[in-house]
This record gives sequence, C-alpha cells and structure tokens, in this order.
Amino acid sequence: MKCDECGGPMTVEPNAVRRYDLGGLPHVELHGVEVMRCTACGSETIAIPRVAQLHRVLANRFVNQHRMLAPVEIRFLRKHIGLTGADFAQKMGVARETVSRWETGSNPIGALADRLLRMLVVHHEPSESYVVDDLLSELTDAPAPKKLLSVAIRNGGKSGWESESGRELAKA
Ligand SMILES: [Zn+2]
Repeated sequence: MKCDECGGPMTVEPNAVRRYDLGGLPHVELHGVEVMRCTACGSETIAIPRVAQLHRVLANRFVNQHRMLAPVEIRFLRKHIGLTGADFAQKMGVARETVSRWETGSNPIGALADRLLRMLVVHHEPSESYVVDDLLSELTDAPAPKKLLSVAIRNGGKSGWESESGRELAKA
C-alpha cells in the first residue's frame, strides 16, 4: 500500500494506541487499533472497527461517571443521540447559545441539565446495563476537571470494544 499524501511506503502497526481525536474525544485512548503510517511523510491512517459499538461503550461509560459531564462528553452524547445543537436546545428547554457554552466549556452545564442529558441517552438506548436509580444516586456533581483523566477503551477483537476497567459495558 502507498501513502495517499505522498505515494511513499506505508508500515502497519497492528496493535497501536491512539487518542480518539477524530471522535472529538482527545481524553479517550483507543487500544488495539491498526495504524498505517507513511515512512516518508509520517501521515497516519487509523482503522477503527465497529465504530457504532465503540460509541455505545463510550456513551455508557460517560453516563455512568459520577462527576459532571465534561464539555467534550456533552458534545459527544448530544451527537450520539442524533440531535443537532438546535434540537438539543429545544429538548433541554434552553437557548441554542446555552448549548454552545456547555460544549465549549465557557459555562458549566449544571446538575439539572447534566441529569436530563443522561436520561435522554438512557432513554435513547435502553439497555440492562443502565440502572437508572443507581446511576442517579451515585452522581456526586463534582465538576469535570479542566484536564480530563484518560479513558482507555480496548479493541477486544471479536468481542468488540471494552472499557479498560474490565467490566464489559455494551455488547455488539
Ligand atoms: Zn506520505
């Protein structure tokens, strides 16, 4: 295979770790992805299998966090449930600009809206892995830190993506 950018030779790293910048989630580390890298210009292509299942694992992980959702997580979840900024604002009962501020981090989301977004995600994707009572009672409303801790998600091959904690959160 040759590089799309410069025609140079490509090497393949079959079991690489890369941040999920493409998905708008730079704090998420994908383990076990295949990376093709040009030895001439360094340009990389990352193969991410089963994207839909990966996104379900991530949504599940974020919704079950005890702290408040971070701006990049809010944006990810809003898109995950298929809403535009305007539709999301309408569902949440806020102005479009308010949604923008949550997603850029210029204003924190607040405990009520944080819970409502989680409920929208749970409702969008009913699953036995969501236990709503537990989910709500375990929230601490601690603000998301400016610098987010890394979230590691491993490509388990046939079994699909898994959260690094070892607990399997969503099956394909
Ligand atoms: Zn190249």
